[in-house]
Amino acid sequence: MIDFKEVDYEGDSWELFARDFLEEVGFFIESTPDRGPDGGKDLLVSEELKGKLNKYRFRWLVSCKHFATSGRSVAEKDEPNILERLSSFGADGFIGFYSTVPSSGLNTRLNDLKKELKIKDFRIFDQKIIENYLIRIGYSKLIMRYLPESYKIVKPLHKVLDEYIPLTCEVCGKDLLEALYRENYKGIIAQASDLDEKGVEHVKKVYCACKGACDKQLRDSIYKKYKLTTSWKDISDLAIPLEFLRYVISAINQLHDGEYHYEKDAFEKEKQIIISLAQKVLRETTEKEKERVVSLMSFPF
Ligand SMILES: [Zn+2]
Repeated sequence: MIDFKEVDYEGDSWELFARDFLEEVGFFIESTPDRGPDGGKDLLVSEELKGKLNKYRFRWLVSCKHFATSGRSVAEKDEPNILERLSSFGADGFIGFYSTVPSSGLNTRLNDLKKELKIKDFRIFDQKIIENYLIRIGYSKLIMRYLPESYKIVKPLHKVLDEYIPLTCEVCGKDLLEALYRENYKGIIAQASDLDEKGVEHVKKVYCACKGACDKQLRDSIYKKYKLTTSWKDISDLAIPLEFLRYVISAINQLHDGEYHYEKDAFEKEKQIIISLAQKVLRETTEKEKERVVSLMSFPF
C-alpha cells in the first residue's frame, strides 16, 4: 500500500522520516541524524520507563537503512559494530528502522546479543510495521510530507474535529471506518423508518453495523420492538467522495421536501456518521486553513 521508494535516497530523507516518525510514536529525540563512527547515520531517541518507585530513561540507538529500491534485506554486514556504536552513544538498546526487512542472520545476531545480555533490548521497525503505524490515526501529515503519492492511495484517516470519531458497529464495537484499510464491503450504515398516513417517512433509528450477524441481530431487535424494516448503504461506497456527497444531498432534499422526519436520536446519529465519514473523504485541513477557521469562529454573528 505504501511505497517507501518515494522517500528520497539522496541526503538524509530516510533518517529525517525516521526522526519524525519516532517522535510521532512518542519517543523523545535526543539527536538528529548524525554520522556514526562507522560512517553510517544513526539517531538517538529515548523514552521514559516507569517502575514502581522510579522513572527511568531508556536510550535507543536508531540505525536507519533505506534499501527500498533494491528491495534487499538489511544484512549483518550492513550493521557492523553494533556494540561499539551503542557504547559510543551511551545507548541501552538498538532500533533498526528499515524500509525493507532485516535478514535472518541479522535477526539471529541481535537475538544472541540480547540473550548474552550484551544489549538490553532491540526492536525492528520494518516496512510492514512502519506501514501499520502510518495508516493509524495521527500519521496522515507524515505520509503527506514524505510519501505524497502513497498518500493518494492510502487516503489516511485524519481528524476533522479535535477528536477522532469512529464508525462503531453497534453490536460488537468494531471501528468500521478504520477497518476500511483491511477490508471492503463489510460494514453498513442503516436506517429504520416507517411511513405515516400522510406519506412522511419517520426515521426512528440510524446505526452502523458489520454486515451479516451483527446487522441481523440489530434488524431483528428493531423489528421486534418497532415493527420497522431497514434500508442500508455500504460504508465502502460512502467513502467514495461522490457517493458521500449524494448521501448528504439526498438527506437535505428529503428534509426539504417534507417527506422525511428524523427523530432526535436518529438525527444526532446521522450527523455523527457524516462527520465520521468526512475523516476519510475530505482532504486534510492545512495549518493555515485551521488558523482561518479559528479566526472565523471568533467573529460574532
Ligand atoms: Zn459488528
